[in-house]
Amino acid sequence: MMAKIFCIANQKGGVGKTTTAINLAAGLAALKQRVLLVDLDPQGNATMGSGVDKHQLDHSVYQVLIGHSSIEKSKYPSKSGGYDVIPANRNLAGAEIELVDFKNRESILRDALQKVADDYDFILIDCPPALSLLTLNGLCAANGVIVPMQCEYFALEGLSDLVNSIKQVHANLNPDLKVIGLLRVMFDPRTVLQQQVSEQLIQHFGDKVFKTIIPRNVRLAEAPSYGIPGVVYDKSSRGAKAYVEFGLEMIERIKSI
Ligand code: ATP
Ligand code: MG
Repeated sequence: MMAKIFCIANQKGGVGKTTTAINLAAGLAALKQRVLLVDLDPQGNATMGSGVDKHQLDHSVYQVLIGHSSIEKSKYPSKSGGYDVIPANRNLAGAEIELVDFKNRESILRDALQKVADDYDFILIDCPPALSLLTLNGLCAANGVIVPMQCEYFALEGLSDLVNSIKQVHANLNPDLKVIGLLRVMFDPRTVLQQQVSEQLIQHFGDKVFKTIIPRNVRLAEAPSYGIPGVVYDKSSRGAKAYVEFGLEMIERIKSI
């Protein structure tokens, strides 16, 4: 069976994309799934958080995008997470400009990933906080988008830009693409506002809101500095359990995709 490919995207910064990418990857790996995590952000946080040193890369997603390397040659094992990583570092920031004159510049990642699609069950793509050419490459390659979000007052407003971009990519580049779901992250059930926004989300988006809720949990925030996914760093933490639960929900969800 071919891998299902998911973008973790939200153009808003600091909403938990990378934490979700790393811990969903590790959660799925713990559930015996074969997982590839693609870091599409020049910040390289998904790379470092998976225990791969972004300063010591012979190959990265940058070389893949400019056609100087393949996915096979650019993958590194996340020893701590049990999945493979296509890493990124600052070099990737240059790709935006270098790719401008490329034909099919939005679909380079899709074409590269096709060659390894049989080797994995899930391919997860951690997108940067922008609706840039990098994010477009992610959206073009994916079967669907996972949108992590905090239940804050302006959360719904930011969503409409993302949903519009997804609609455009769907219409012009990738008829496969859909929003798989909205994932409530860094959730604090004691906050009345978060409860209210969460209820609004369900009213607007119905079963597009994942059942799993990721709580605010300091263990998830500590883990990246050790290069270990939170799911592995402290298995018994509430954050780790929630991400494994989310892995189960995704395994269930892909049956109907
Ligand atoms: P960027 O837009 O810069 O790529 P991002 O959307 O990838 O950011 P993260 O880097 O995952 O967001 O998270 C932002 C910060 O919030 C990090 O310091 C992370 O450790 C912390 N964080 C994320 N999720 C949780 C959580 N569930 N509980 C506690 N802290 C969290
Ligand atoms: Mg990030």
